[in-house]
Amino acid sequence: MTNRNTGKEVLILKRSLLAVCTAICLLTLPGCGQAADTTFATEENPASTASNVPAQRTVPRPDIVDKPILWNGTREQLIREYTQKHYGKEQLEIVPQAVVVHWTGASTWEGTYSWFYKEAMANGTLNVASQFLVDRDGTIYQLTPATAFCRHAIGYNWCSIGIENVGGADDTENLTEAQLQANIQLIRYLHQQYPTIQYVFGHYQQVAAHASGLYHEDVPGYHSVKADPGPQFMRGLRENLSGDGLAFYPE
Ligand SMILES: [Zn+2]
Repeated sequence: MTNRNTGKEVLILKRSLLAVCTAICLLTLPGCGQAADTTFATEENPASTASNVPAQRTVPRPDIVDKPILWNGTREQLIREYTQKHYGKEQLEIVPQAVVVHWTGASTWEGTYSWFYKEAMANGTLNVASQFLVDRDGTIYQLTPATAFCRHAIGYNWCSIGIENVGGADDTENLTEAQLQANIQLIRYLHQQYPTIQYVFGHYQQVAAHASGLYHEDVPGYHSVKADPGPQFMRGLRENLSGDGLAFYPE
C-alpha cells in the first residue's frame, strides 16, 4: 500500500540528500571526478572510460582495524623534542604532503606493533612508529591518527604518512599481492581525505624524493640507507595509481 504524501516526502528527501551529497563532493573533493575514474580502473584495464565507470564519486574507505599504540604525555614530550631538534619547531601533528611506503623487515604484524607501542627508544629519544601497518594478508591496522606525528622516515616525518608492510626480512622483496592491493586502496583513500598529499615514494627513494622539496633535516649527517619496500612494490603502486594525480619517482 502506498501513501501518496509519504511517497512525495520520500522523493523530496531523496532530492535534498542528492543535492547535499553533490554539494559536499564539490566542496571537499575538488578532484573527486578524476578519483572516481581511477577507483574502478583495474590492472588489466587501466584506461577505463566514462562509459564503463560507475557514477560513484567517492573513494570507498578500505577496511581499517583500529590498533592504537601508546599515546601519552611522555610520547608528546618526546615528539616535541624530536621535532624541535630535527625540524626547528615543535609539532605534534602533520599536514600530510607525502606517503612514504616501508617494509618492516619482520615477519609478523604483532612483532612490529609491540616494537612501535612504547614511546621511547633505548636511548631515550622518540620511538619509531608509523600511522599504518599492513599485514601480509592485506589487513590494514591504524596505529595513530593519520595526521599524528610519527618517526618513520628521516627528513620527511614532518609532512608524511608512513605505511609499514610486514615483510622484507634480510631486504628480500617478498611483499604480497594482498599488501599491494591494500596499499593502493589506502593511499587512494588518504589522497581523497587529504588532498594536500602530492607524493608517494618508497623509503629507499628518500634521496630521489629530495626533488619534491619536502626534505628537511637540521642535524648534519643524520641519515640512513634503506632498501624498503623494494622497486617491484613501488612499480606496482605507481602503475595502479598512475591516474590519481600523485607524483612517483623512478623505481
Ligand atoms: Zn622504512
